[in-house]
Amino acid sequence: MMQVPRGCADVLPGEIELWQYIEDRARDICRRYNYAEIRTPIFEHTELFHRGVGETTDIVEKETYTFTDRGGRSLTLRPEGTASTVRSYVENKMYGSPQQPTKLYYIGPMFRYERPQAGRMRQFTQFGIEAIGSSDPAIDAETIALAMRFYGELGLKNLHVELNSLGDAESRAAHREALVKHFTPHIEGFCADCQSRLHRNPLRILDCKRDADKPQMKTAPVILDYLNAESAAYFDAVKKRLDLLGIHYEVNAHLVRGLDYYTHTAFEIMEQGIGAVSTICGGGRYNGLVEEVGGQDMPGIGFAMSIERVLLALKTQGIELPVEQSIDCYVIGLGEQADEKAFELLDKIRTAGLSADKDYQGRKMKAQLKSADRLQARAVVIIGEDELSRGVAVVKNMANGEQQEIVFDDVIQTLTHITQIGR
Ligand code: ATP
Ligand code: MG
Repeated sequence: MMQVPRGCADVLPGEIELWQYIEDRARDICRRYNYAEIRTPIFEHTELFHRGVGETTDIVEKETYTFTDRGGRSLTLRPEGTASTVRSYVENKMYGSPQQPTKLYYIGPMFRYERPQAGRMRQFTQFGIEAIGSSDPAIDAETIALAMRFYGELGLKNLHVELNSLGDAESRAAHREALVKHFTPHIEGFCADCQSRLHRNPLRILDCKRDADKPQMKTAPVILDYLNAESAAYFDAVKKRLDLLGIHYEVNAHLVRGLDYYTHTAFEIMEQGIGAVSTICGGGRYNGLVEEVGGQDMPGIGFAMSIERVLLALKTQGIELPVEQSIDCYVIGLGEQADEKAFELLDKIRTAGLSADKDYQGRKMKAQLKSADRLQARAVVIIGEDELSRGVAVVKNMANGEQQEIVFDDVIQTLTHITQIGR
């Protein structure tokens, strides 16, 4: 038997309704915050991710799906959405639009070669937003607020925001020097990745999962002690705006994000109960990225979360989403001619905007009524030979069991009435 590839999953009817509901809520909140959707290709030139995610990240070092196409180009299935969004922003000169910052969101599949577990897939779907072209601390707060409102509207509770600042280039350079000094005498005891990161990007050592328990991790110099005055003021301004919106956060001086290009604000939103992977959203400011991808020096900020982890959080908290799984109407025709009439009527019902179905298996009346039940039909329309000859149909309101004979021309009106009050 053929099986779905490891770390991938089919989303089937029954579960897909939850995905659609969550995606609809994402689109709706983006509309309210004035973010427009962008769809970029699933694969990009490999080079984009090397530049835009960073050579020293786990994503690029170990997790990419990279292949050579028949024309000899190296392409990579996108592992995240920011690099592609920024590439498109530069390529399409969105910085030239009078409306700034450029506010974009995406929902789509991402690919990482990971060790699969709950909430960690090889193909997963991210919802992310990016605001490019502003370094107003209010937009940092808005980014976090949008994510938290989104979760709140889904019914999620007890999430917490962890916040840090990675500072500007000057602050990061000072911190980097301190990190190299701190780790150099002990680096022998660290994993090979950390050893190679020591001079390339020592900040990434702090994000290492293998060496997380080493004593030197806890005593490592923290970036907050190295922020210059400007970066510290920026961080304070972000915090003040989060306070204005009533968003609680904890400063976590040890929070560093997996991607190389982050500056200033970095944050994660956590749900403690979902197991080993408690982060449901990660984001931050990336003031160096646009230039790295070949554009002008433009600030940016965004977040990404996967629908998989949102679902995990919802499940953990026992939240049932109000998803629609019923159908408006089920039409039954008994006997060949009545069945033809049923088929015709079905088409009219659908044209009128109602959802409806009938039997295509030649089943008996009882089995058809069972189908109607299974589909949670709000109304059932029955046409027998006798009704056919009199030009009427029996319309049954499934909510209260009432049934009436209705002339064919009035069936849709009756159905509309029943299904409207049934909602
Ligand atoms: P982690 O430390 O859990 O590996 P990360 O730092 O790699 O996370 P990001 O690259 O910041 O994660 O991705 C942002 C969000 O995307 C995560 O907070 C999570 O919701 C989701 N995500 C990342 N990797 C996966 C995956 N393999 N499967 C499902 N969701 C994922
Ligand atoms: Mg990861």
